[in-house]
Amino acid sequence: MNVVEGLRYGRKVLLEAGVENPLLDAEVILSHVLGARRMDLYLEPQRELKEEEIKTYKALIEKRSSRIPVAYITGKKEFFTLEFFVKEGVLIPRPETEFLVEEVLSRISNIKTPKVAELCCGSGAVAISIAFFKKDAMVYASDISEIAGEVTMLNAAKHGVEDRVRFLIGDLWQPFEKEGLKGFDVVVANPPYIPSNELENLSPEVKKEPKVALDGGPDGLDFYRRIITRVPKFLKSRGSIVLEIGNNQRERVCSFLKKECFEDIRIIKDYSGFERVIAASLHAG
Ligand code: GLN
Repeated sequence: MNVVEGLRYGRKVLLEAGVENPLLDAEVILSHVLGARRMDLYLEPQRELKEEEIKTYKALIEKRSSRIPVAYITGKKEFFTLEFFVKEGVLIPRPETEFLVEEVLSRISNIKTPKVAELCCGSGAVAISIAFFKKDAMVYASDISEIAGEVTMLNAAKHGVEDRVRFLIGDLWQPFEKEGLKGFDVVVANPPYIPSNELENLSPEVKKEPKVALDGGPDGLDFYRRIITRVPKFLKSRGSIVLEIGNNQRERVCSFLKKECFEDIRIIKDYSGFERVIAASLHAG
């Protein structure tokens, strides 16, 4: 089996399994096995694969055909131009979440040594991107999952920001409360926001991701209530909150924010035109 034959094989198996982009995924998996870049495959299409390579490749194609996400198979995902390590047990960073990072960076760009808190940090992609692109920021990232802590610190070390990203384990504000951490310039979160009864409609791939990272309770808004009602206590005067939201959640999340005296509410749409990020600042005084 050579490279082209390998790709043809992978594409066919994945197509039959109902995978959305069978050729692309076969390319990603084969280049992962060969330790090459995807474009390299087409530089040497006739290259014969070694027996060991074929064995590994076929096993991974099999895994993918059981609808395990590609990122869990390769153990990596690109986010905000950086490569992050991911594994089962943490949510795979989504491209639309990059808008969250962009908004935080623009809010802290003129602040010297800003202090940022991230709740529900998962793989740490958001916290680490912020620390990486704002070199004097200190980021406190929390999550209830131990795997999230492990993956976040691995990623922080990978990008050389482990001295400016601190992981705190616990439920939302609880670790901040415990350690008396407050006075943040920005609080950012991409909490679970899918309404519980919609979880069953997710794609087979998303169903392989941790439910604890997706399930937002009966109306999907549980975490926004719990984050927003307590956030003023942890923010500086005029500090900001930046949240990722689910479809059709803008109005209700806005009303939570207004109740806690947030103003200058800004909505950012994602690549598909959905209102995806909501940002606001705390009223002074
Ligand atoms: N955007 C994710 C999805 O559609 C959900 C992420 C979340 O709940 N925070 O799978």
